[in-house]
Amino acid sequence: MIIQPKFRGFICTTAHPEGCATHVREQINYVKNQPSIQGPRNVLVIGASTGYGLASRISAAFAAKAATVGVFFEKPASGKRTATAGWYNTAAFEEEAHREGLYAKSINGDAFSNELKQETIHLIKQDLGQVDLVIYSLASPKRKHPVTGEVFSSVLKPIGESYTNKTVDFHTGTVSEVSIEPANEDEIRQTVAVMGGEDWEMWIDALDKAGVLAEGATTLAYSYLGPSLTWPIYRDGSIGKAKIDLDATSHRLDRRLKEQGGRAYVSVNKAVVTQSSSAIPVVPLYISILFKLMKEQGTHEGCTEQIYRLLAERLYGGEATVDEEGRLRIDDLEMKPEIQDAVTRLWSDVKTENIKDISDLKSYREEFFRLFGFEFEGVDYGADVDPEVKIPSINE
Ligand code: NAD
Repeated sequence: MIIQPKFRGFICTTAHPEGCATHVREQINYVKNQPSIQGPRNVLVIGASTGYGLASRISAAFAAKAATVGVFFEKPASGKRTATAGWYNTAAFEEEAHREGLYAKSINGDAFSNELKQETIHLIKQDLGQVDLVIYSLASPKRKHPVTGEVFSSVLKPIGESYTNKTVDFHTGTVSEVSIEPANEDEIRQTVAVMGGEDWEMWIDALDKAGVLAEGATTLAYSYLGPSLTWPIYRDGSIGKAKIDLDATSHRLDRRLKEQGGRAYVSVNKAVVTQSSSAIPVVPLYISILFKLMKEQGTHEGCTEQIYRLLAERLYGGEATVDEEGRLRIDDLEMKPEIQDAVTRLWSDVKTENIKDISDLKSYREEFFRLFGFEFEGVDYGADVDPEVKIPSINE
């Protein structure tokens, strides 16, 4: 099958197995070229197949030589449909990990369900005994509550009043104004149910109760704050309420894990191009401008650079310094005042006519396609490839 990108807006319905493998190998090579980390031994990553979760799995495995269990929700190829990118990413990750003699097994299914939690616990008990690091990196539009069965949907909306700002169609470079109506109370409640801390806490409860959390275990969840120009849609919007709930959960989990010498943190990460962030209005334009400025300063980072730094310099080396809310901050380079002042200046000027000069939209678009395994030099996109790829540890 010849696989080309099939996209509409921020959705790409095809993925390229060789391109995804190249992407994963690039990230692995970056980590292997960094100093090794005296870090975690056995790691569970929930949301391990793309974005920050995949970067976490790669960093733990290839910098700390950790055994990893990865949980995610991806689709294998079927008929004329390619697998999802996260499926191909995981196949490539496991192959590379196994080649280095590292334990790596994966579980595909709904992480919000009790059944998947029990399956994961069973695997940990059987193969590893316990885990000493649990990373929670889910990003999902929906969640079915495991007790009540209610299906929640998350929304990306402001709260209180509508929000109007610039946004870009990153395929065409057209800058336009977007207006988003505020979320109602029920939409806020549902967004908190999907992206807040309840499921993270359910995971830690289940792992703890089953005795598979090692003494002194660390758990982490990821968050974003960003600049004031995105606050109405992010920090102060419906998703921001979910992140506040995540903060409160981390404080509760920290108090509880401390009794056994453990710790829980929320880490605030920088804005990067992932399947989830490309769905947020306004944010892709902000990221395009940010990329240009951070590249000029030599401080540009993707998911892997961020998470390697988080593990090497904050969690397992140096000091885990936290902000006034108790959060780890690896968005420090993004939030530098000189970067943010420059973003604000460029933001007021940016329009369709000058976007190519003012921002790095080209890289944004490239990175978007790279998420699905396209735009890699050395991959022959005209060649026939088999879309059916097996993840070594998953029996279909
Ligand atoms: P992503 O879309 O790349 O990854 C989401 C992961 O969740 C995938 O592995 C997917 O398979 C998994 N997943 C989704 N629903 C699932 C389900 N029901 N069961 C099992 N797995 C499921 O997302 P991302 O951007 O890496 O986001 C991860 C976290 O990082 C989020 O909390 C996000 O808010 C945070 N974050 C993202 C950014 C950014 O710019 N992308 C910045 C800071 C923080």
